Amino acid sequence: MTSIVPARLLDGAAVSKTIRQRSREAATLIPGLPPSLRVFLVGDNPASQAYVASKSKAADEAGIRAETRRLPADLSAAALLAEIAAANADRSVDGILIQLPLPRLHDTAKVLDAVDPRKDVDGFHPENVGLLHQGRPRFVPCTPAGIIELLAAYEIPISGRRAVVLGRSDIVGKPMAALLTARDATVTVCHSKTKDLPAVCREADLLVAAIGRPGFVTREFVKEGAVVVDVGINRLTSQNAPPNLLRSERIRRTLEEKGRILVGDVDFDDIAPVAGTLTPVPGGVGPLTVAMLLHNTVKAAGLRS
Ligand code: NDP
Repeated sequence: MTSIVPARLLDGAAVSKTIRQRSREAATLIPGLPPSLRVFLVGDNPASQAYVASKSKAADEAGIRAETRRLPADLSAAALLAEIAAANADRSVDGILIQLPLPRLHDTAKVLDAVDPRKDVDGFHPENVGLLHQGRPRFVPCTPAGIIELLAAYEIPISGRRAVVLGRSDIVGKPMAALLTARDATVTVCHSKTKDLPAVCREADLLVAAIGRPGFVTREFVKEGAVVVDVGINRLTSQNAPPNLLRSERIRRTLEEKGRILVGDVDFDDIAPVAGTLTPVPGGVGPLTVAMLLHNTVKAAGLRS
């Protein structure tokens, strides 16, 4: 039986605004120079350029000095490592961010390992990953950290609940599972080899979907009344829209009018009558990622030696 009460929506944009304001206030309390962020953008991937532009703008608004190093796609691995070493040594740089994905010639793990862990505002360095898993976090990856802030803002309980994280990436799935475990949820992590995926997901009081497949999570994955957090960001046109999403009049109309639409990993219209609480795309998790980057950068400035 499905609920007749429509799902409550979690407003990530509003919570993001509060976190950004908090970061702005914290930035003013840093002695000496304002907090600073150096972003490395290698190559000309249009999505990366857009992400970097929005991060820089948000940083400016929070009183953080953001500087983007635009580097050519054919930059050698040694030259990129030298750039990172220079930023590590530069006392005027508090936070370092390597915009992903890197062009193929670079070994991403090697590049991320080269960042000073005390300036690693993305939380991807093995030292920070280890600290997170030991329950003494320093820098937590921005997207899962933002989700925890969102749940806290709406006073959604985590302790003792069954949580399922769909996806096991280093950026979202794994750190999300670590954060939920640290908050006493009982956590299951699912991935492409998980058997009977809908049934496992249906056990969740809290389901976090981060797999990069538009509209993958349908009603059969969701327990009635569950909290569903949609991390996915997928750009659709009528050519690549999966059939289940095209059943939604809202999506069909947007595709007709605009030719494209941004959707999550969740089939929003399908699960909305079943889920108790839901994040929209856009306006759910996305804005929190940038907000937590500002939070981490101010924190890095606080670690200056
Ligand atoms: P990755 O591609 O790195 O990881 C995807 C994960 O999903 C993998 O663990 C993979 O399993 C699993 N998966 C893929 N297909 C299936 C399937 N059919 N069934 C079960 N599991 C599957 O993605 P990311 O974690 O980087 O990103 C996930 C989504 O979140 C993307 O849409 C991305 O754009 C979005 N994103 C949004 C952010 C935001 O700010 N809102 C920030 C970061 C990401 P396996 O390990 O077995 O391959």
